[in-house]
Amino acid sequence: MSAELLKGKPIADGMIEELKKEIENLKEKHKVTPSLASVLVEGDPASKSYAGRQQKSAAKVGIEYQLHELPSDISQQKLIDFIAEINKDDNVNGIILQMPLPDGIDSYRVQSTIAMKKDVEGITPANMGLIVYDRPRLCPCTALGAIKMVEASGVDIYGKDLTVVGRSAIVGRPAALLMLQRKYSATTTICHTGTAKSGKLPEHVGRADILIVAAGSPELVKGEWVKEGSVVVDVGFNWIDGKTVGDVEFEVAKERAAYITPVPGGVGPLTVAILLQNTVEATKWQME
Ligand code: NAP
Repeated sequence: MSAELLKGKPIADGMIEELKKEIENLKEKHKVTPSLASVLVEGDPASKSYAGRQQKSAAKVGIEYQLHELPSDISQQKLIDFIAEINKDDNVNGIILQMPLPDGIDSYRVQSTIAMKKDVEGITPANMGLIVYDRPRLCPCTALGAIKMVEASGVDIYGKDLTVVGRSAIVGRPAALLMLQRKYSATTTICHTGTAKSGKLPEHVGRADILIVAAGSPELVKGEWVKEGSVVVDVGFNWIDGKTVGDVEFEVAKERAAYITPVPGGVGPLTVAILLQNTVEATKWQME
């Protein structure tokens, strides 16, 4: 039997409706309108269009969005100084640093300077550290999106075998750590290129009741590896011959899994909704 599809858009739409109400409440009761500062170092057309989409989505829910375009030859120190300024600005509740940064700028150094309570992408060491301590506040948007997809399946996660393929700081690693929280208590395995080289990727995938794949490698996970009746969340987004392809061999996997995310239309639509939700959470955190 074919798997049930886990689609991101209906979940994102529900989140947006909730956010609108919360933002109205913040405006009425606290006289606060959440605002997002987006820092874009010029040079990458894709990140400019991504910022444009964020701006439209923010406007729809009533979040102010200020786009700060900085010259492509800006020095690392000047960029850090700019972030230090908006860290202090009471009219800014959230800060997004658009990626990629030009060559020669250490993105980790710059990201680390974002104030913890304004870190709406959940990428600072401070917010990552809170996940390790099982006290998450602002979490990386795509990792959280993957967790929301697993939740949307309605499957009981407690004690289940989870395999995450990919250990990047913004997706795989935080997704695995979030699933280790006591409230989920998944028994977690993280795979990477070392696992693939050892030849054990099929084995780790094959015993996963829940599988999250964020590798950036088209159809890396073969459908026949997927456990019967499992939940499969494919974060991968790859362009092949003008088509979007995930990291999981979808057509075969969907005949084995109980729930599976399509690509596109799975985790992707959730990312911006979570960014906006994080902005509201950040605003509330600053008021505590
Ligand atoms: P990344 O930084 O390149 O990390 C990829 C991870 O996958 C690494 O840990 C790498 O292992 C592992 N990996 C790569 N090839 C592998 C293989 N053949 N076997 C086993 N492990 C392998 O990528 P990312 O930023 O996490 O993104 C992952 C995917 O998610 C991409 O397709 C990206 O486009 C997509 N994505 C989607 C959204 C969205 O939908 N909104 C947002 C972000 C990312 P090593 O650590 O050993 O190198």
